[in-house]
Amino acid sequence: MAGEPQADCLFCKIVSGEVPATVVRETDTTVAFRDINPQAPTHVLVIPKVHYSDAASLAAAEPQVTADVLREAGGVAADEKLDETGYRVVFNTGSGAGQTVFHAHAHVLGGRGLNWPPG
Ligand code: 5GP
Ligand code: ZN
Repeated sequence: MAGEPQADCLFCKIVSGEVPATVVRETDTTVAFRDINPQAPTHVLVIPKVHYSDAASLAAAEPQVTADVLREAGGVAADEKLDETGYRVVFNTGSGAGQTVFHAHAHVLGGRGLNWPPG
């Protein structure tokens, strides 16, 4: 069923605790944890606990949870003092854009200068 945990999904396993992660924030609907291969001094992933393959499909099915993910991205930024210097929230969507894990996730990046446009 839509939103149900997927047996072969790495981020569903992080939600269940089967795969460990350095969790920095958690709510009833979201988990935020440090990226294993950080691309900036702060690089945190915010994921919904429900499984959708990307941000657009999450937004279509679960608008409130999508808002929760964005609010928590802002919470991470405030926790890490990035709201004072600026930060970026990224949803890579599709393999051509660098998406490698097909469970919706927001990257929260900051703590260094961020080029625009991104590569
Ligand atoms: P994507 O490339 O799909 O936008 O982002 C997936 C992110 O997940 C990558 O930045 C990658 O470093 C991160 N990642 C992959 N495997 C793990 C893992 O086992 N633990 C954590 N914490 N992050 C992971
Ligand atoms: Zn999943």
